[in-house]
Amino acid sequence: MKIVIIGAGLGGLSFGALAARDGHEVLLIDKNKEPGGVLTLARQDGFCFEQGPLLLTDLAPGDSVWRFLKELGIRLETQREDRGLCTPDFSLNPPECYEGPDWRKKRLKALFPADRRGIDEYYRFYDALTKLRFLAGEKPSALTMLKMARAYRKIKPYENMNCRAFTEKLFSDERLRLIFNGILADFCADPEEVHCLLLPFVNTETAFDKRIPTGRGKKKLYSDYRVITGGCQKLPEALCEYILAHGGTFLPETVAEKVLVEDGKAAGVRLSDGRVVYADAVVGAGSARDFFEQTVGEAYLDDAYRDILKRFRPMEAVFMVHLGVDFDPSVYQKPCLCYYYGSYDLHGAVEKLRNGVYHGGGDGYLIYFPDRHAPAFAPAGCHCVTIYTVCPDRLREGSWEEKKEEYADRLIRLAEKHLPGLSDHIVTKKIMTAEDYRRLTHMSKSSFGGTVPIWKQKNPPHKTPVKNLVFIGQQSENGGGVPLVINGAADAYEKWKGEADLCG
Ligand SMILES: Cc1cc2nc3c(=O)[nH]c(=O)nc-3n(C[C@H](O)[C@H](O)[C@H](O)COP(=O)(O)OP(=O)(O)OC[C@H]3O[C@@H](n4cnc5c(N)ncnc54)[C@H](O)[C@@H]3O)c2cc1C
Repeated sequence: MKIVIIGAGLGGLSFGALAARDGHEVLLIDKNKEPGGVLTLARQDGFCFEQGPLLLTDLAPGDSVWRFLKELGIRLETQREDRGLCTPDFSLNPPECYEGPDWRKKRLKALFPADRRGIDEYYRFYDALTKLRFLAGEKPSALTMLKMARAYRKIKPYENMNCRAFTEKLFSDERLRLIFNGILADFCADPEEVHCLLLPFVNTETAFDKRIPTGRGKKKLYSDYRVITGGCQKLPEALCEYILAHGGTFLPETVAEKVLVEDGKAAGVRLSDGRVVYADAVVGAGSARDFFEQTVGEAYLDDAYRDILKRFRPMEAVFMVHLGVDFDPSVYQKPCLCYYYGSYDLHGAVEKLRNGVYHGGGDGYLIYFPDRHAPAFAPAGCHCVTIYTVCPDRLREGSWEEKKEEYADRLIRLAEKHLPGLSDHIVTKKIMTAEDYRRLTHMSKSSFGGTVPIWKQKNPPHKTPVKNLVFIGQQSENGGGVPLVINGAADAYEKWKGEADLCG
């Protein structure tokens, strides 16, 4: 069958690789020169910067993305890294000498003695949930079911709790709540909207110290956080190479303007250069609203799909300042990525984002060293520093183009508190605003990581009301993030294949 895939981001590439493996004729269309979407590199003055994902889960041997790539015969070298965390009052960076897997628990109890019991309760919940997830992947047996029931009993009291209620029940100190809820700001999610079961998965202890083992004995209980050696662009490059080697085609710098629908079936696409490509199936990615409202046409949807499209909430944008510097900043920051929180008021921070008010780094920012795992990103003697924050897609006052220099300077000044002398060592500066991301991803509203993980929110399903039209990527039912986008595309492919086979 001939399959046209609109968007050569990770979603499109993953779907395309599986289809090409099975002998389908794959045509990948993307408006950019290179495949990868947000995983493509920004290049300037001899430096390369990663515009997308920083730390990834599910890449370790045996994990889902690793298995997906292995099945295709793709091997990428990866390395563990850890995530640092600093608040206005204290820092929770990994200790110089390894202190064991419970170092954070001990440190938190020392910092917040009044909340010792709540801290113990959190870690009981964390262990039970991790165990439950592990057991769910085991062969079903009477013993497994019994163990699952035991673990579930420890989680049951929280099964109807959101993150805010959960952390308020456990911790009296708002600073402690931020330790666990803070990461939700990345998703532009209010702790009140998110189910508390998500918290252990976005705060895996193994993320905070790469020396923590991921399992006990032969059992792997926790995922770890990794970077791809040589840069995360290696992942889309390898997938695209695989597609081309299996007879597929990549059409760069081309926009798919219209999906052609005939008799309720996807029949092909009309391209920006006026050409029409007929196909047996069309796969779309990117912004769900743009795709269905403009490229497909809402008239082809049913009420249920239209309703999901209207209600689901995509995340907001990011503001990134990439710097090429002629000193080694890792002397001052040990983890390759560190979160610097500036406020304990997450609800207020999210409200600002949603109302077009940019905090200018005041609510928090991240500092990342991309060349740590990809030394070729910087010329000899130099290094890369990326400082970034979440931000509103559109500013209530002024435009990103007008404000970007002022905001970049503000972030550099903030980062300088941790990387002394930073501004004296800048060789080059590249700013990425929400407007730049809109262009890169072909979205009319930039949304950097997918959908907000709102409890009970339904995201646009892979299966659409138009026959042989599949929707994948970070704004589809799987949500965003590298593993979810890859696993979601693989799921969508299997479902589509099942139905396509049935139709002969
Ligand atoms: C700054 C940043 C940090 C992130 N951090 C992490 C992280 O630490 N961990 C993690 O797991 N994930 C992270 N993510 C999220 C993850 O990278 C994304 O969820 C994932 O890569 C999205 O893949 P995608 O294929 O859905 O979309 P995209 O990468 O947006 O690709 C879609 C592609 O489709 C093209 N396109 C769309 N419509 C058309 C059309 N009509 N015609 C032609 N081309 C079209 C776009 O140009 C784009 O190239 C991060 C993302 C960003 C931006």
